[in-house]
Amino acid sequence: MPVKNRFAELLPQITEWRRDLHMHPELLFDTHRTSGIVEEKLKAFGCDEVVTGIGRTGVVGVIKGRQTGSGKVIGLRADMDALPIIEDTGLDYASTEKGKMHACGHDGHTAMLLGAAQYLAETRNFDGTVVVIFQPAEEGGGGGREMVNDGMMERFGIQEVFGMHNWPGMPVGSFAIRPGGFFAATDVFEINVEGRGGHGAKPQECIDPIVAASQMVTALQSIASRNLDPVEQLVVSVTSFQSEGEAFNVIPQRVRLRGTVRTLDEGVHDMAEERLKAICTLTAQAMGCSVTIDYNRNYPVMVNAEEQTDFAAEVARAVAGDCAEAPLVMGGEDFAFLANARPGAYILVGNGDTAGVHHPKYNFDDEAIPAGCSWWAGVAEMRMPLAN
Ligand code: MN
Repeated sequence: MPVKNRFAELLPQITEWRRDLHMHPELLFDTHRTSGIVEEKLKAFGCDEVVTGIGRTGVVGVIKGRQTGSGKVIGLRADMDALPIIEDTGLDYASTEKGKMHACGHDGHTAMLLGAAQYLAETRNFDGTVVVIFQPAEEGGGGGREMVNDGMMERFGIQEVFGMHNWPGMPVGSFAIRPGGFFAATDVFEINVEGRGGHGAKPQECIDPIVAASQMVTALQSIASRNLDPVEQLVVSVTSFQSEGEAFNVIPQRVRLRGTVRTLDEGVHDMAEERLKAICTLTAQAMGCSVTIDYNRNYPVMVNAEEQTDFAAEVARAVAGDCAEAPLVMGGEDFAFLANARPGAYILVGNGDTAGVHHPKYNFDDEAIPAGCSWWAGVAEMRMPLAN
């Protein structure tokens, strides 16, 4: 099963959808226009059921196979939201919304899954049910979490989930995947250090929160270098250091630190949070300051299940002849919430030698559409083959 011919025929139309979405990017949960287009197309394709408003602006389509005796139900998921970036591509179909841009290729993801849904609704060459899932707010809003919390898995009886992301730097239409922890958990923290302000020339009368916070910044680097097994992955980044003061001659009262922690393993995840809190609490105590630590776990580790990953790679090999081993990614991915709820696999499809995702010159490559659509179709047809 190489690239399906039907997708060569559908390519101009899917490209047109993709470019229209590109011109009209929407952020987080405000994907009203995009969700409306998805709903309208899924209905036009003849999906057996189309449900809107799941996870606020999420849309779900149900496509029953020619046979359903297997009882299998698989979820195929795309994301719909854009980023708050000023586009700098110079494309004739560039964003018409100032300060909003499809800089992560979710326009391509949505268009490809729509193309696959059209094909699957036309042909229905599978024994089971396909649930196509279009989620808002992948870029930090937890749209996947909202859809799962809305009871999507139970309501549609979804047993397994599959997802795909385009990847700059990989040949167009090639595939890569890996089992286990794949995309990082993304935590954020805020540390408020309070000392006693005063005259810059009289430190003995003050408790300097800048010196205390500086020691915290340095000591936090020892979590990755001294507490972690060197073959594991961890990022601890303090990304903001702000004192209350502006003057040359005043020791301020307070300092606020902000940053992020990224991990690929739940054990490391727990260790990093615990060490961060201990280091900041005890450093503050040693320096005579008080401290409050606000630590928030946002996206969990995105874990690819073994069996589903092997299968996803098998489909990729059927489409493209090969499937590479993907690198670990320290960025987060909202598909983690779906893959936590049901066993799943997330695959990368090559976007060629383009600017990286989240860059103002990035663009999704429409040449990847036939491969991406064929993989989606293959997941349905090969996972739930017709019983003759
Ligand atoms: Mn993305």
